[in-house]
Amino acid sequence: MSVFTESPERQALRRAVFELGRRYGAGYFQAKARAGQPTHELWSEAGKLGYLGVNIPAEYGGGGAGISELAIVLEELGAAGTPLLMLVVSPAICGTVIARFGTDQQKQQWLPGLADGSRRMAFGITEPDAGSNSHRIGTIARRDGADWLLSGRKVFISGIDHSDAVLFVGRTEDATTGKLKPALFIVPRDTPGFEYRPIPMELVTAEKQFQVFLDDVRLPAEALVGDENAGLMQLFAGLNPERIMTAAFTLGLARQALGSAVEYARTRTVWDTPIGAHQGIAHPLAQCAIEVELARLMMQKAADLYDSGDDVAAGEAANMAKYAAGEAACRAVDQAVQTLGGNGLTQEYGLAALIAATRVARVAPVSREMVLNFVAQHTLGLPKSY
Ligand SMILES: Cc1cc2nc3c(=O)[nH]c(=O)nc-3n(C[C@H](O)[C@H](O)[C@H](O)COP(=O)(O)OP(=O)(O)OC[C@H]3O[C@@H](n4cnc5c(N)ncnc54)[C@H](O)[C@@H]3O)c2cc1C
Repeated sequence: MSVFTESPERQALRRAVFELGRRYGAGYFQAKARAGQPTHELWSEAGKLGYLGVNIPAEYGGGGAGISELAIVLEELGAAGTPLLMLVVSPAICGTVIARFGTDQQKQQWLPGLADGSRRMAFGITEPDAGSNSHRIGTIARRDGADWLLSGRKVFISGIDHSDAVLFVGRTEDATTGKLKPALFIVPRDTPGFEYRPIPMELVTAEKQFQVFLDDVRLPAEALVGDENAGLMQLFAGLNPERIMTAAFTLGLARQALGSAVEYARTRTVWDTPIGAHQGIAHPLAQCAIEVELARLMMQKAADLYDSGDDVAAGEAANMAKYAAGEAACRAVDQAVQTLGGNGLTQEYGLAALIAATRVARVAPVSREMVLNFVAQHTLGLPKSY
């Protein structure tokens, strides 16, 4: 069988997840998002069916598969019009980091819940004064006896209001100079000193973004995930899946938009033939279909490299896949809106909301420019400018 033929198991997963998403539908998703309500029904059902935890080890109640399978779940939910953003964070980043570096106790405590969706964990790295420069992270963990005291500020952290805890990236006090030696802490949402406020965003999503204030948040020693001296390797074990999953999220939305546009172009007739017969409509859609497929291939390569344990090659591929997905999706959504004319901007068709949703992938979790910096320096060997 060709490496490009998906296994029967993956094809079955794809179909089943798409059917689940379609049963809820884009109408359900957008109504919830516009009302500022969570999509708990869909999340819970997907969790019970085992889709949210396909990548979590089987001994902790997960599916024992990889990021490749979790990316299938998210892509298909997006294609069905029901993207679940927290899949990028809860099972993909937090689940992976805890499964790879957590203690037995942390695994027992968190992984079964993350796998069946009954518990959720957000992820916080971005800071107002550091932004893309994560070496400048100023969230500091100080030892106080056996405890840790965590202080700092974070911004744009998704989904805290419906999460049980947040996995925060800080640095230990003795590592405040030089290169970032990140230390990761699980902070339950109700811990004293941890406050969060929603940021008004122009996004039609069921998840909100928050700014966070951590003021001498007292944590037990066992809140630290992994080794405080393990450095960037531990962090990137979570960040590479995040990039792959952002690609999956965005490409699902692109497929949804292209699907709507093609259906519309087949039937809408304002001269003698459906508008899809005009090459001015057909060719840009065909171009977008090619670009989306190329980005999907890159995403699948990145996921495969990650699942095979090659973190270094996966890092380059995950960056490239996230970049390609963001570009392909923004163009596909723009062309879909154009194809629908005025209807492209109505709430009924829901395409205009995807303009902002896909635009996010050009900024987060790592910006387009920072990916280009990475490729320029590491793939091409060009000098660093900053
Ligand atoms: C919807 C949404 C959800 C998010 N969810 C989370 C979350 O759950 N957890 C989390 O931790 N973060 C989250 N983020 C934050 C996101 O990861 C950051 O916004 C992103 O990393 C960019 O950082 P910044 O916004 O500070 O931009 P900045 O770093 O201020 O960058 C601004 C601009 O300058 C450019 N730039 C900066 N440095 C360079 C350079 N050296 N060369 C060229 N250009 C440069 C950038 O590319 C960008 O275009 C989310 C953001 C959004 C929009």
